[in-house]
Amino acid sequence: MTSNDFIKKGSNFLKMNNIKSHIIDAELILSNVSGLLREKFVINSELKLDSNQINAFNKLILKRGMSKEPLAYLFKKKEFWSNDLNVNKNVLIPRPETEILVDALARYYKNQKPFILDIGTGSGCIIISLLQELKQSKAIAIDISNKALKIALENSKINNTFDRIKFINSSIDNFIGFKFDLVVCNPPYIARHQLKNLDDSIKYFEPKIALDGGNDGLDVIRKVIYKSKKILKINGMLALEIGNGQYSKVSQILKLNKFKEKFFVKDYKDNIRCIFSKLDHY
Ligand code: GLN
Repeated sequence: MTSNDFIKKGSNFLKMNNIKSHIIDAELILSNVSGLLREKFVINSELKLDSNQINAFNKLILKRGMSKEPLAYLFKKKEFWSNDLNVNKNVLIPRPETEILVDALARYYKNQKPFILDIGTGSGCIIISLLQELKQSKAIAIDISNKALKIALENSKINNTFDRIKFINSSIDNFIGFKFDLVVCNPPYIARHQLKNLDDSIKYFEPKIALDGGNDGLDVIRKVIYKSKKILKINGMLALEIGNGQYSKVSQILKLNKFKEKFFVKDYKDNIRCIFSKLDHY
């Protein structure tokens, strides 16, 4: 059998098991076990696999199809902002939407060196990518999960930002003592009653603590906004990722807390995904 046959066979199995992304998943599994870029066997469909690769391929296809475990956890890796990040079940899998947040901030702060706080750093994806773009910046990254911080720390080492990030095991409530130019947060923002409607791959594998935003999904967002009032320097910015349909409510909370919205950014599906605001001092 050639690489193409394996992809067909694997993706058929995944399809039968209701995996929507069955073709790309089979291709990514083949890429993972062969060490070859996906493009390689898309161009050359006749590549041969050795028996180890075939075994590994079959094993991962079976696991993905039967258990629905996300590929990122099966590979223990996820690419974000062109970095290879380590992930495990203690951290949310970094999403492409979150790259939009990084992109907007990297542009906004180009050639500047904001002192940054990343709240709920998880895998560290946001702060690591931001510091790669803002070479003079330093940051503090907090998380209530020590297990997540361990991964974030590893990732900062692998991606050469370790010396500029201080990782602290803390909730936002207990965090004091510093003032920042930029506070960034991709909070858990799914309303609790909606958790059960998430895809199996998400709800059975990703950490609930990284998803659950309380009754209306806005519990952590409220806390972050309230706290940011106190820990932002004058002219400091709060950058928030938010959930679908949360824009007007979050706007209202920001206004109530004397924040002035600067701009927002939409995601690939045209949802307002990130809000950027500053304290209105006058
Ligand atoms: N900051 C991490 C990310 O953006 C984790 C976010 C979270 O756990 N809600 O992926």
